[in-house]
Amino acid sequence: MGIVDISSHKSVWRGLEYYKQNKVVSYKENKDGTYEGIVEGSGNENYRVHLDMAHPRKSTCNCPMADGRMVICKHIVAVSFCVDESEAERFKNEKTRYSSEEDERRSKKYDKYIRYARSLPKSALCEAYAEIMVELDELKLKSK
Ligand SMILES: [Zn+2]
Repeated sequence: MGIVDISSHKSVWRGLEYYKQNKVVSYKENKDGTYEGIVEGSGNENYRVHLDMAHPRKSTCNCPMADGRMVICKHIVAVSFCVDESEAERFKNEKTRYSSEEDERRSKKYDKYIRYARSLPKSALCEAYAEIMVELDELKLKSK
């Protein structure tokens, strides 16, 4: 089990962003094979990451999200991607595959609805459109 496997999807995704934006200021390997890293935080603060690739759950970071908790945050993920770039590639590829499946699903749905819309007489189409817009508005109000 690697860092990516035990992290929340959000941490991995944010960690990848941090990695790509070169937010990892520095990292070095310790004698025991673990790593110490410094990662730029969202404010002015830098966070200290201790990364243990062999035992990912022993990794720590002193940011508010991970400090004192057994949580893998985006800073730990970012350092792990620096140490093992192939992991970052692996995750990016998975992500791309996922979004192309998503695109395909969307385009199938689109085809289905456009066929339906074309089969309707214009007056029915107008009514259906107005109903959808009203519903969309109400959904937006509810989610606020
Ligand atoms: Zn952190």
